[in-house]
Amino acid sequence: MSVHGTAIIFPQAHLSVIPREGHAISRKAISPNALRVLYRLRDSGFAAYLVGGAVRDLLVGQQPKDFDVATDATPEQVKQLFRNCRLIGRRFRLAHVVFGPEIIEVATFRANSDDGSGDREMENGRLVRDNVYGSIEDDAVRRDFTANALYYTIEDFSVRDYVGGYEDVMARRLKMIGDAEQRYREDPVRMLRAVRLSAKLGFSIEENTAEPIARLAPLLGEASPARLFEEMLKLFLSGHAVASFEGLEKFGLLPVLLPETSAALASNRSGALRRMLIEGLRNTDARVAADEPVSPAFLFATLLWPAYCRGLIGLQAQGIAAEAAASRAADRVTVHQLEHIALPRRFSLPMQEIWLLQGRFSTRQKRRVTRLLSHPRFRAAFDFLVLRLAASELHADDVEFWRAAQTQSNEELAAALGAAAPENFDDEDAPPSKRRRRRRRRSGAENNAGTPPQGE
Ligand code: ATP
Ligand code: MG
Repeated sequence: MSVHGTAIIFPQAHLSVIPREGHAISRKAISPNALRVLYRLRDSGFAAYLVGGAVRDLLVGQQPKDFDVATDATPEQVKQLFRNCRLIGRRFRLAHVVFGPEIIEVATFRANSDDGSGDREMENGRLVRDNVYGSIEDDAVRRDFTANALYYTIEDFSVRDYVGGYEDVMARRLKMIGDAEQRYREDPVRMLRAVRLSAKLGFSIEENTAEPIARLAPLLGEASPARLFEEMLKLFLSGHAVASFEGLEKFGLLPVLLPETSAALASNRSGALRRMLIEGLRNTDARVAADEPVSPAFLFATLLWPAYCRGLIGLQAQGIAAEAAASRAADRVTVHQLEHIALPRRFSLPMQEIWLLQGRFSTRQKRRVTRLLSHPRFRAAFDFLVLRLAASELHADDVEFWRAAQTQSNEELAAALGAAAPENFDDEDAPPSKRRRRRRRRSGAENNAGTPPQGE
């Protein structure tokens, strides 16, 4: 057993080795491609470890979603060893070794302190570039939480721990390496990572690690909107959306990430909007658990619905007609949110459509019903309507009608719309006395019950 390289031992870094028989990581649980990378690097004379989230997840019996490798080989040296390798990243230069759909990320040991020799840039106390290579000890202490700084080696299948991370993983605890406040100031996204990993793993956040978060929450407002978008997807589309949301609320991060939704929830005394939002996140979690697809557009439609509703009510109170108010509210909420989170247009446009289609579910006019049924966003909008039932029973009739309408033949639909309704009857233009008679087929409705809220 050998520790590669001549190590400068940092004050915080004390190596303890957890031997193979002392931990629960089995080689069988490790991606064969990650093992391939580890062996190739080792056979070429480099140090190579499985590191970070994968080691942490394996120790608590979760299946890692990706496997990261840390090495003393430079990205260029890694590239020479693997034909299927590309170098990426500006802030962190990394090697990606590509095996079909699986990418093994290979990072060179990096240091957290600058002796002027490396490629490192700070802006207002914040890291913007960090390509200073270092020893494994350096690499361990520049990571965020102790649980994320464990190294698994194929030399003897032991776990190497420089920061007390093994004990913290066993205690199901997230603890910041070094001074928590300083580390959050360096990179405010670490506050989100604390909440996210705690939600994902069911870990507690150690006291000194938790304390500064609410206080420093506003710093998150200066984080890159593109990075925040990526973090949002990890928070809410990885199967622990409800826990993530509750964590963001608890630590005061919600007002920074989703300011208008946060304000709308605070002023909604009945709690209906929050109920609906949580219900949407619960459904998302159920879909992830069942391996069903989830869409960022539907997610953001859910997360920003309270903001949209509030905006809409405000505009209508100013006397703006329903349809104009709806599209203006949708635009406004989107533009304001984009200041914080870079939601790409391919998601914000369908998100807005989901909202705007909500106003069309009250129609029973045949031509409009048919048109809405064939709208490319109908299914997502209908699933969203189902979700709104969690906030208000008012939508029960519409849900029932549209659920049935999706499976009805033309004749059945015509019957459901009422034989008396003339073909070109336009309900908005008609005097109230002429409103169509509705007959609904109650039997068909249950057949489609349980339509999942999503899936565009
Ligand atoms: P998961 O993959 O479950 O989302 P993870 O911990 O693996 O969680 P990644 O974003 O994949 O998260 O990061 C891999 C590793 O890189 C982390 O385990 C941690 O050691 C380190 N790391 C990631 N982000 C930061 C950060 N902002 N500051 C310091 N270290 C970080
Ligand atoms: Mg990871």
